[in-house]
Amino acid sequence: MYNIFVSSCLLGLDCNYKAENNYFDPIKTLITLESKGLCSISNFCPEQSEFPTPREPMNIHFGDGFDVLEGGSQVITHSGVEVSTALIKAAQNTLSFCKQNKVTHAVLMEGSPSCGAQWVYKGECWPKRVKKEGMGVAAALLKKHNISVVSHLNLAVFVKEIAEQSKI
Ligand code: SF4
Repeated sequence: MYNIFVSSCLLGLDCNYKAENNYFDPIKTLITLESKGLCSISNFCPEQSEFPTPREPMNIHFGDGFDVLEGGSQVITHSGVEVSTALIKAAQNTLSFCKQNKVTHAVLMEGSPSCGAQWVYKGECWPKRVKKEGMGVAAALLKKHNISVVSHLNLAVFVKEIAEQSKI
């Protein structure tokens, strides 16, 4: 059974830094699989567990989520406030949520300093929006704990995998 955690903003919850959502219409395909009993979906917003909404945007400087977890990189808001400790706590809250819900896979919002699965923005280049390869802090912590991390941009491949595994 696939126990799938989805970034809340992808499902339409207004939890991003602007108090808006990042609704992703193809997520319906996953909900259809759930209605057929082929997976179970839960959702959580890492940042909303430690920060207010709306909140100041933040980025990882010089590294990715793994580097932040190891103390080698910092998370800094656009006005220059260092929030690494709070973002690590948000990642730990996410991991606790996933453990409670026996999550096996996480479908995460690409590019976020928390949820980015393949890339994040180079905070050191702000205000230029430059991408770099790497994971957000919550995504990195989930991966370290053997939860499979899937970019929302790769959802179609993941949905196909579930369907094939379930032979439908
Ligand atoms: S922390 Fe993750 S779930 Fe929350 S708004 Fe950002 S991308 Fe979405």
